Amino acid sequence: MGEKINVKDIVRRKKEELKDKVESLKKLGIQPKLAVVLASEDEASKIYVGKKRKMCEELGIEQEEYIFDSSVTTEKVVDIVEKLNQDNSVNGILVQLPLFKHLDMDKILDTISDKKDVDGFHPLTLGKLFIGEKETFIPCTPKGIMTILDDIGTDYEGKHAVIVGRSRIVGKPISQILLKRGATVTICHSKTQDISIYTRQADILVVAVGKPHIVTKDMIKPGAIVVDVGINRVNGKIIGDVDTDNSLKVCSKITPVPGGVGLTTVLSLLENVVQATIEQNNIK
Ligand code: NDP
Repeated sequence: MGEKINVKDIVRRKKEELKDKVESLKKLGIQPKLAVVLASEDEASKIYVGKKRKMCEELGIEQEEYIFDSSVTTEKVVDIVEKLNQDNSVNGILVQLPLFKHLDMDKILDTISDKKDVDGFHPLTLGKLFIGEKETFIPCTPKGIMTILDDIGTDYEGKHAVIVGRSRIVGKPISQILLKRGATVTICHSKTQDISIYTRQADILVVAVGKPHIVTKDMIKPGAIVVDVGINRVNGKIIGDVDTDNSLKVCSKITPVPGGVGLTTVLSLLENVVQATIEQNNIK
């Protein structure tokens, strides 16, 4: 019988570590600051921004928000981002996705300085990640997944990691990180003919699709570590992409939904803000 990973406890410990780092920066007269741009009417985005605000408060990170209604133009958002790039008191810039449909997402994300790209979506940041450069911001969800896998002592070298999903924010970056750590990586997506052929071989299985219980017990290798990234609302309940209760009978460890990867995603953002602050102030 496998176990659900206690992600809440991991986050609690990591938050304490991060709080200490923020305190040390403040003692040097440095105040980490995150600027958040919200140009969306997406309810989930508003909830995420609220969660980020709350964790910033807990950790002593300053946060300011730029909230726009649907009359905003791409030029206006680009203009704000450019101003934030120039503002030395701002260490990290986050443009909350998805944006209003009429806005040019690529143009806006490309405007963020790679020095302040704490969400890690700028092409330069992703490019650095793909060539394996150390000094880069790792996108928040993949970074959070690695926090969990590292904390439970996952062995990567020579293991088969199977990723289901190939999005820019989860599937692609996590595949590159696991590749760098020495895993053999397979990526499945909507055109893969039978994902179970691959998932059954996975020592480490990461599922980021957005379809409730697309991965079931019979698709999991005995003893596998399973990371369920999916968030799906079904009959008013939040469930993941993996049928957790039944999968526990075969896997060794699994992240719960809710209370799993989502928690580390927010933490990772603030870790990136602190990293940006340290780098911008040339602190060794
Ligand atoms: P996207 O919609 O951007 O990507 C989904 C991926 O799943 C695509 O690559 C798609 O393939 C693939 N896919 C779709 N259907 C199938 C299928 N039947 N078999 C195999 N692959 C399939 O989603 P995201 O990566 O942004 O998010 C995935 C899930 O994770 C969502 O539920 C989202 O809410 C959640 N999420 C959770 C976060 C957290 O903090 N916990 C953070 C970010 C996301 P193709 O490329 O071919 O279309």
